[in-house]
Amino acid sequence: PLFLDHQSTTPLAPEVRDTLFQTYEQPGNQDSLTHAFGHAARQTVQKAKRHIAALISAHADEIIFTSGATEANNLALFGLVTPPYAGKQVITTPIEHSSILSPLKEMEKQGLTVTFAAVDGQGRVSLTDLESKISGQTALVTIQSANNEIGTIQPLSRIAALCAAHGVPFHTDAVQAAATEKIDASLPGLTALSLSAHKLYGPQGIGALFIRRGTSLSPTLFGGDQQNSRRPGTLPTALIAGFGTAAKLAHQNRDHDHHSLASLAQRLRDILIQNPHVDVRFNGDPDNRLPGCLSLTFGRIEAEDLILEMPELAISTGSACLSSSGGPSHVLTAIGLSPEEAGRTVRIGLGRYVTETECAFAASIIVAAYERLLKTQ
Ligand code: PLP
Repeated sequence: PLFLDHQSTTPLAPEVRDTLFQTYEQPGNQDSLTHAFGHAARQTVQKAKRHIAALISAHADEIIFTSGATEANNLALFGLVTPPYAGKQVITTPIEHSSILSPLKEMEKQGLTVTFAAVDGQGRVSLTDLESKISGQTALVTIQSANNEIGTIQPLSRIAALCAAHGVPFHTDAVQAAATEKIDASLPGLTALSLSAHKLYGPQGIGALFIRRGTSLSPTLFGGDQQNSRRPGTLPTALIAGFGTAAKLAHQNRDHDHHSLASLAQRLRDILIQNPHVDVRFNGDPDNRLPGCLSLTFGRIEAEDLILEMPELAISTGSACLSSSGGPSHVLTAIGLSPEEAGRTVRIGLGRYVTETECAFAASIIVAAYERLLKTQ
């Protein structure tokens, strides 16, 4: 099938695959500096760090490697907000990824106050509501850069400025935005930022937390003194090298990828909208959005039926996490969709290597499947 689920993960860039194979050829622990293998590994890690830092306008020493963004998000939350939690507040949004919402639930059980800033029907956070909720107890604001289900991009520089004005640290989960949007970690007011290589055509199992110089961060893992003990454990040299190559490519191709994905998505939308038989609505912010992410709510046809009817396409229901949990997506319900509408919603994620022909093919498959299902009703 044609892979159109790039919000869940991305295929490896061929350049990244080369880097992985080359790096795996040699043993090397960047902290074993009594021999040349260790030194070579250290150089490899440093080079990758520079590419990752450059992608987000950060300094190399502000990057901490983790096993992915789930761990980076957990490290940001537990590392920046320390116990006792009673009397402390974290402000977030109802449409964050579960790797933010679940740790916050755990912290809430231990006394933390979790407050949600309102989002509108397109998933945009209300800055007025956010500001009204900041108080003397606010220990952290965490708001994603872009949503993984509906593609809405948040006004990061304005949120960061607001947090700076109130002297509150700000973390953003930038996992989805990093492949196609300009992410500026040097923004005044931005304290921490999470990334994941596998959303950037890099390998799975490696991510990073940017943490601004001078910020105190409590470790969540305890072990050796790797990464200044802020995240101990032997660094996976090859995964990091692959992440570095992916970041370098994302940096070089960002504008091109953004525009070509926007035009592919436009083409897909046009074909579906112009078909008189297809009843479809698009979710999320129509302007400030991830160019390749389409969230479509169909009339009358269930998302699962539609997906089963199209074995040629690999797409998902609202989000990948939803498929296992069963309930309606918390993101779709937070932007006002009924559970029934959420159940009629699919997510299509276009990516760097999808061609125009494949996109037109996908549109024709969707139209044909939709028309067949309508007839069986
Ligand atoms: N945050 C967002 C917005 C995501 O889409 C994902 C993807 O799964 C994650 C965090 C988790 O990233 P990882 O798979 O690297 O743990």
